[in-house]
Amino acid sequence: IKISNLEKIYRTEDVETVALNKVSFDVKEGEFVAIMGPSGCGKSTLLNILGLLDDPDGGSFVFAGQEVAHYNERKRAGLRKQHIGFVFQSFNLIDELTVYENVELPLLYLKVGADERKKRVEEVLEKMQIMHRKNHFPQQLSGGQQQRVAVARAVVNRPRLILADEPTGNLDSINGNEVMQMLTELNDAGTTVIMVTHSEHDARYSHRIVRMLDGQVVLENVMI
Ligand code: ADP
Ligand code: ADP
Repeated sequence: IKISNLEKIYRTEDVETVALNKVSFDVKEGEFVAIMGPSGCGKSTLLNILGLLDDPDGGSFVFAGQEVAHYNERKRAGLRKQHIGFVFQSFNLIDELTVYENVELPLLYLKVGADERKKRVEEVLEKMQIMHRKNHFPQQLSGGQQQRVAVARAVVNRPRLILADEPTGNLDSINGNEVMQMLTELNDAGTTVIMVTHSEHDARYSHRIVRMLDGQVVLENVMI
């Protein structure tokens, strides 16, 4: 990932909010980067653009060798479904679907065949230690279990990039550490991880902290 001079401006009737003001940084394949900063500094806006959910108003964004800053939604969605897994603070599981069905969903979107789907879903449920709950619905699980299902869903399509938005924000420290451990294992296996967090503790799992303030990157700390 290489972003340069990225700009995002939200315009409502009479107010203009500069959410990103010439943000530049690189993330190498296999890195684990934490993004930190106070509320309103532009972290979610940046993560939405990195996740190809939204497009910037200016600047350049190179993703896996392609300039994607001006891609339309259809082209962005194609890359997104193939390469990116998302983990959110509030889990964002579908309540009407079982654990198994939630995790299978990204593979249905990618039109993966039934045998391969079953193999991959079971493999990832085993890895996330949630197999025994595959026929339960999200509301029947604890917060920590729900986030393990969400991580399973994020990685079942074997993405090159995981984007995590405060993944431990709704978890106690034991479950939070478990989720951080899982992200670390995925990163050790080669997946790039970019995580927004308010937790200095969680940020220590990363290789580098990008600190933001008022729509700008103000500091980059390399973790030793
Ligand atoms: P953070 O994730 O760091 O809290 P955000 O990226 O959510 O920051 O917000 C950055 C700035 O952009 C804030 O001033 C916020 O109020 C504004 N903003 C975010 N989303 C919108 C939107 N959809 N419309 C208007 N302003 C927005
Ligand atoms: P936590 O303390 O981590 O929030 P809970 O007290 O919510 O955990 O849940 C403890 C255990 O009970 C977990 O294994 C969870 O899956 C199970 N559980 C909680 N609510 C339900 C439910 N409505 N139906 C079935 N199992 C449940």
